[in-house]
Amino acid sequence: MAKAKITCKCEICGGTFEHVRTCVNRSDADSYAEWAAEHVTVCPSCYAAAKKAEAASKLNAYIAENFGAEHPLPKISGVSEKQISYAEALRDEFISRDLAGCHVKLARFFAVEDKVRLENMSEEWHAAAEKRAESEGLSVEAWFTKNRPAIVARTSKITIVDVVKKLELIVTESNASKLIDALG
Ligand SMILES: [Zn+2]
Repeated sequence: MAKAKITCKCEICGGTFEHVRTCVNRSDADSYAEWAAEHVTVCPSCYAAAKKAEAASKLNAYIAENFGAEHPLPKISGVSEKQISYAEALRDEFISRDLAGCHVKLARFFAVEDKVRLENMSEEWHAAAEKRAESEGLSVEAWFTKNRPAIVARTSKITIVDVVKKLELIVTESNASKLIDALG
């Protein structure tokens, strides 16, 4: 084992920083050091900041395209700034990971979401739902409330019921504590 250790200058903040890499032997370490001197041009903290900014700009673009003016995300309210920003961070993380990260298009979800209501269901559907509700000892309304996320998931092609439930929550819920309970 041999260490490649070079001092680099950050092209963003201008600061100098040390870059270290463990290589299998001295000659590998020397050639790595040569490569790194030319290619490692951003310090770790500027790199982290750039990654963070990139993620934030992707998130904002996704929110603007998919939630837009018609389905704006509620402004979160809570008991303290700290609680509000924690809820915001959890909501952002859910959107980044489960929606934007999976290329979910929300137009279909919102269309389905509007349509899947008890009063829009066909007579055949009601007859079938009544039987199933009865076998579970529920009213049709209660059965529908329980199963609606699964129906929306299937029809909207989001497929994961848990994602649909969280999505339905974030478009209506402004209470920080409820968001934290559901997304934390
Ligand atoms: Zn820097």
